[in-house]
Amino acid sequence: MNIIATIRSPYKQKFAIPRQPNLVKEAHGEIVFEKEFSDPNCLREIEQFSHLWLIFIFHASAEKGWSPTVQPPRLGGKESIGVFATRSTFRPNPIGLSVVENLGWKKKGTSLLLQVGGLDLLDGTPIIDIKPYLPYADALPQAKAGFAELAPSSDYEIEFSAEAERSLAELKSQYPELKNFITSVLKQDPRPAWRKKEFDDKRYGMSLYDFNIKWHVHEKQIHVISITSDSTPNVS
Ligand code: SAH
Repeated sequence: MNIIATIRSPYKQKFAIPRQPNLVKEAHGEIVFEKEFSDPNCLREIEQFSHLWLIFIFHASAEKGWSPTVQPPRLGGKESIGVFATRSTFRPNPIGLSVVENLGWKKKGTSLLLQVGGLDLLDGTPIIDIKPYLPYADALPQAKAGFAELAPSSDYEIEFSAEAERSLAELKSQYPELKNFITSVLKQDPRPAWRKKEFDDKRYGMSLYDFNIKWHVHEKQIHVISITSDSTPNVS
């Protein structure tokens, strides 16, 4: 099999990536096709489809192998479930499957670029196939999904410090959705399952685009402390 493309995603590390696509709609990215597949003919009429399946390689964890059972975060990380009964990244073949929103394609120089939304892929993820999402075949409203029946819910309130608000204001023209994006990511509560059960005064850091975002949890509030960037020196 060949890698057909690589994704450019705002998620620069695995920590804080949502557990499935479409949980964070503001997560927009760009599929950059390999030279051999940079032919717009490959995408002819793709605009007829609002959503696409991406089939990709869990390249950042592939070398860690797999085991017959995994402990899904949805079950508090304590119960063991068969690997094929989960969407775990640790599988015999490290292949991921995500439905994303089709936001259109363009040719830039010799590169062919396809914009997608609602991503759950790490920056640099190799893509091995793209297929249209077919509601009549792929959306089954009567389907049962046991412990993962509903999207994970969260009742956290997300608050931004005055310093974080200042950074957002400076970045507003270039990243108009940054505040909503950070809010949606944090609403998912990216902490490991075991942390959620105990008193937690840890300061967390996460990378979105090239920003380092610091936050901490206080009861039902997540407080964004700061948003800093290495490449934008005037952002505090
Ligand atoms: N929707 C996919 C992925 C589900 S697991 C599927 O069902 O197959 C989602 C997790 O995959 C995210 O939390 C993120 O940490 C991880 N992930 C995303 N891209 C990855 C990559 N390239 N390598 C390893 N892990 C990745």
